[in-house]
Amino acid sequence: MKAALYEGKETIRIVDIPKPIPKADEVLVKIKYAGICGSDLEGYKTGLYPVPVVMGHEACGVIEEFGPNVKKWKVGDRVVINPVMPCGKCYWCLKGYTNICEAEFEGFGLFKNGGFTEYASVPASSLVPLPDTIPDKHGTVYDQIATGLLAVREGPFITGESAVVLGLGTIGQFLMQILKISGARKLIVIEKNKHRLEVAKKFNPDVALNKTIIGKVKGATERRGADFVFECTGRPAAINATSSLVRKGGTVVQVGVSDTPFEISYLPFIMNHNKIQCVYAYHQKDFEYAVELVAKKLIDPEPIVTKIISLDDIVEEGFQEAIKPDTKEIKIIVEP
Ligand SMILES: [Zn+2]
Ligand SMILES: [Zn+2]
Repeated sequence: MKAALYEGKETIRIVDIPKPIPKADEVLVKIKYAGICGSDLEGYKTGLYPVPVVMGHEACGVIEEFGPNVKKWKVGDRVVINPVMPCGKCYWCLKGYTNICEAEFEGFGLFKNGGFTEYASVPASSLVPLPDTIPDKHGTVYDQIATGLLAVREGPFITGESAVVLGLGTIGQFLMQILKISGARKLIVIEKNKHRLEVAKKFNPDVALNKTIIGKVKGATERRGADFVFECTGRPAAINATSSLVRKGGTVVQVGVSDTPFEISYLPFIMNHNKIQCVYAYHQKDFEYAVELVAKKLIDPEPIVTKIISLDDIVEEGFQEAIKPDTKEIKIIVEP
């Protein structure tokens, strides 16, 4: 079967690999779509991720076959794959932190082959049904919504508080929508890409800025700064700016990922008694709830999924396009 194989910095090749055979507890999914994620782009740009691997951890498809121990599913079921596959037995899983399971690096499309190919064989327990009311093209966004749900919960963000969302890639866009339905009293979004900012404006944030203007954030928060800052860019300058955007005693939730070390000034955070909460991935319940929120039309992926491309075009029209700073796209999904 055809697959896009990541082989290091700026190297992805279309190759032929064997079609997987499902093990006893596994299900063979014919991939319908797989989304290109910010972390895939990071791996593509830096070459830091283990190789070779078929990326694509945001995937949906149709069940074609399954192992003898699988009872819950049938051929033809439409499913979404939860790429976080915790072992359920380690210290962290038993403590409830399945997002930081010892086996986290065995996840689908990260260190094991993912969805930029025609078929994937995955544990039956990692599948979530895709309701009939949700079209296939909205089948790949649950990893990003679930990340936002965990970030909001771990804050913990409370109704009536103010929030800044810094960076409106897919996760920032969904985080903004989640904060809306979570009762953010004042919602401020910051994104320098004008296309992404326009999409965010459709959801009526209180303030939308095309760069970090501390005075405007202070002006919208009675000169105090925001109760919460959700940092979704992972860029050093933006991370450093959070200390000027958050109020004294407020919380910065670090969602964006940066692979390279950088200098950060901690003194303002210390002097202002701030809390910095980093978040990683999500739990199964977040993933299931993410699907439910879209089914209930409380979260809308329509303006976020901006382009569908074929597997053959994954480099030129996918990765190369998505890394452009002024790209018109937010989420590009691949049809194998
Ligand atoms: Zn992702
Ligand atoms: Zn575990």
